[in-house]
Amino acid sequence: MSVGQHIPFGLRPDGLLIDPFTAERGLACNCVCPGCRLPLMARQGDILVHHFSHVGNNNCKNGQTAALLLAAQQVLQSHRRIEVPELVVTATDEPRFGKPRQKTSRDPQARWDFEAVQLERSVAGHRADAYGIRADGSAGVVEFRIAARTNEQKRAAYREANIPAVEVDLRPLVGKALTLDELAKEVCDRPANREWLHHPEAAALERQLLAELHALRPTPTPAPAPAPFRGAGPPVYMRTGTDLSMLDAERLAIRKEHERHRALTTEQKLAELQAALSAPPDAWPELFTTVKPNSRPAINAPAPLWQGALFQEFVLGTLADARKRDYGFSAAAVNGWTWARFDASPGESMTGIISEVLRFLEHLVAKGYLRVSGDKYFVVRDSLPPRGAAT
Ligand SMILES: [Zn+2]
Repeated sequence: MSVGQHIPFGLRPDGLLIDPFTAERGLACNCVCPGCRLPLMARQGDILVHHFSHVGNNNCKNGQTAALLLAAQQVLQSHRRIEVPELVVTATDEPRFGKPRQKTSRDPQARWDFEAVQLERSVAGHRADAYGIRADGSAGVVEFRIAARTNEQKRAAYREANIPAVEVDLRPLVGKALTLDELAKEVCDRPANREWLHHPEAAALERQLLAELHALRPTPTPAPAPAPFRGAGPPVYMRTGTDLSMLDAERLAIRKEHERHRALTTEQKLAELQAALSAPPDAWPELFTTVKPNSRPAINAPAPLWQGALFQEFVLGTLADARKRDYGFSAAAVNGWTWARFDASPGESMTGIISEVLRFLEHLVAKGYLRVSGDKYFVVRDSLPPRGAAT
């Protein structure tokens, strides 16, 4: 584009941009082109859209896009706020057997308020269109997409610097006439025209989703026990079949016990637990009533009940049992046990159970009952403190 190029904003002698709706008509606007720095005329036609144009023939190549970028930077710098989009992270688990599963987490859309906005600051070798600093000292980058070129290079830079970066797509505005106020709405307030180039929490969220997906993998059917050595006698084949007889007696007994327990009322479950602990779980408020459930409780039992029962199952008396003491247990085992014992609240998924169980296990670590090694928990202290005492 050269002759007749519509320039959306003109650059005034004070370094600020002005829109053609506000400028004085013609050369009286006293503006130059943000691209080539040659004088502009303000055109406020009744038929043509308002715009600036160069005086006479010229070879300006980038006046239109330079004006839009400069104006976007300027409105962000003066408004110092921007809506950032929802963060959507999806993880896929493709087990060797069974169907692939997918999970998605969504962090709601939010707003960044900046104390200061620096333009053209270098971040990991890339010049950021805008670099904002928030009241807590954290930084966020804002990029504007005006040309059609890809943004992979920017993504790589912000990934390397591990700084959150949002790109606002202004391509639909190229060639349009708008006031600086209208541009400010497009830049600061519209969540729809932007995307994350990089978000420091995305990778951790993906790892968490993958862990949740792995926990959902079906437990493999136990392999049949090897046939006992019988010397030279005829071979002995172990049982076959796919019904419950495949489960060994111990597993079958555990399953029956879970089913029996699930069928009890909450009051009956509490009564059983109280008998086992020799007091209701509320007698240890520091231990069993500190970790509150999610806003939508995921485990179908009051928190003191499932937490007390979990403690009884996985912690109490463990140090006297060499197998339990030395092998520890995984979070997945606790998740599965909690689900089998209490079930999920109606409409809730395994994900909610996992987050509630993990928080309680971390609490037991913090209180000195458990320690973590690799992906296992080991019991350090396996008895309850005196009732009502601070633990
Ligand atoms: Zn120009």
